[in-house]
Amino acid sequence: MGKPDVDGYCSGSSRPFSIQRELRLGYEISTDVFELQPVGLETRGAGLALASALREALSRRLGVEPDEMGIAAEDRRNRVGGRSVSVFLFDRSSGGAGFAVQADDHFAELLNEAEKLLDCGVPGCVTGCPSCVLTTDLSEDEARLLDRGPALEIVRSLAADASPLEVDQVGSTSRLVLDLHGEIERGFPTAGTKLILRVDSPLAISGLTTWSLRGVIDRWRRRGGTVSLSIPVGTTAMLDSASILSFRDQLSILDLELEEGEEVVFPNRSRLLAEIILESGDSLAFASRDAVAFQAGPQWGKPQNAAIVRFKSSQRLSKGSKIARTSLQSSAGASVSIVSTELNGPISSFGRRAADIIASLITEIGLKSETITSVVYEDRYLHSPLVVRMCIDTLSALSKAHGPNVPITICTRRLNESELLPRRIEHNWKSDRDREIVFRDYAASLKLALELQIGDLPHARQITLATQSGKRIHILLDQGFGAWRPERYRDFDFRARAESQARQLKGLDFTLSMSAESKTYFVARS
Ligand SMILES: [Zn+2]
Repeated sequence: MGKPDVDGYCSGSSRPFSIQRELRLGYEISTDVFELQPVGLETRGAGLALASALREALSRRLGVEPDEMGIAAEDRRNRVGGRSVSVFLFDRSSGGAGFAVQADDHFAELLNEAEKLLDCGVPGCVTGCPSCVLTTDLSEDEARLLDRGPALEIVRSLAADASPLEVDQVGSTSRLVLDLHGEIERGFPTAGTKLILRVDSPLAISGLTTWSLRGVIDRWRRRGGTVSLSIPVGTTAMLDSASILSFRDQLSILDLELEEGEEVVFPNRSRLLAEIILESGDSLAFASRDAVAFQAGPQWGKPQNAAIVRFKSSQRLSKGSKIARTSLQSSAGASVSIVSTELNGPISSFGRRAADIIASLITEIGLKSETITSVVYEDRYLHSPLVVRMCIDTLSALSKAHGPNVPITICTRRLNESELLPRRIEHNWKSDRDREIVFRDYAASLKLALELQIGDLPHARQITLATQSGKRIHILLDQGFGAWRPERYRDFDFRARAESQARQLKGLDFTLSMSAESKTYFVARS
């Protein structure tokens, strides 16, 4: 390579005739090179984006630094004279370290990882950004050419023909699936086709409201197909009386049929995730060994640890018995309040207003005259300042209606590990210790006798009130306090000391809202 000219550019780059391509060939001999010339790759910019993503994916897989390898993309004429681009990964160390050539062995998995990188979710990223494919070793010219969009399409089409890892294969005809949502969408040939989607238990209703597949389900139905949700046997029996009503609503909104059935497990321990059943009885099956891909929510069909594969079957594979939506009922003797926009308003009065609804439910089940002696709330997901404030305020209002010293116990789970840095009031804390101090200090500022217990919990979110006469009243909240959001974005300073976070929590002043289409259920029973 020549010395840079006065503008900092290589003197050869403006004079293509002076570039000695043989130099690259010489380089290829002295180190290990992986070359790929995919059909449909037409610009160097897309080639560079593809190379950058493959290199990142390969270095992660091999556990080496990405800069151990260099990348390049070169225009080529293909055999019929059309344009194509070759993409190269090569080892930087002379003689080759053997990294780049391993791209071949891991190709299907690299596509999987490269797809995630190229499908960049950073707001404003159009052609490539530092968190996806814009790396510091690209020249200014290359950075300007970079184009991740077409590279993403190439990766998806390459994957359509790629064989998955042997451990992920179900039979010899399995193909790797990168974009399950897209394949389901495209897999719709005629009206009358049935789509079956499997989700794992326990079933979080919030997982259905945030399900990444809602749009696909809707379009599938509108073209005359049917969609069925398959859940493990016994799942509906485990839902509490508030969640079951929410579940029924979600099934109605999505017009989903429901079936409970044993899971279908293949010899390599992968499980059936989705199935498209044609009127002829043939089926297209999707399976994975990944657990995350089976959770209803944004991550459904997006595996983390093992690929999704697809294969054909001459008969339906999933089995299950149909459950009528109308059979999903709250238990007898319970009283239900459907909360939609009723609790929208200032956060400062949320607790009192929520306690009013709960008090009227207690009246409806005939226990108005009981004196409450203790309050226990169980909720796995008290992970953000927002829900902690709403929860403590509500329990405080409930207990204070029965005297100043009614003890309150809150049981929740340890925080989940997360890489993300929390910024907003509805984000999860990263530190259990911070959360505990905020609980303690905030409760103290309200003069509450509050105990926090951390442990394993059942899935239901419920308040249990013990009465002087020895009765127990259960209030089930299908979404806990998670159904509301600040009307506008609200920051929370998670980096401040926990004591000052508690003061921040007390000083909050904004409007909470839940959208008019959504609702949550409060159910009381004794
Ligand atoms: Zn990006």
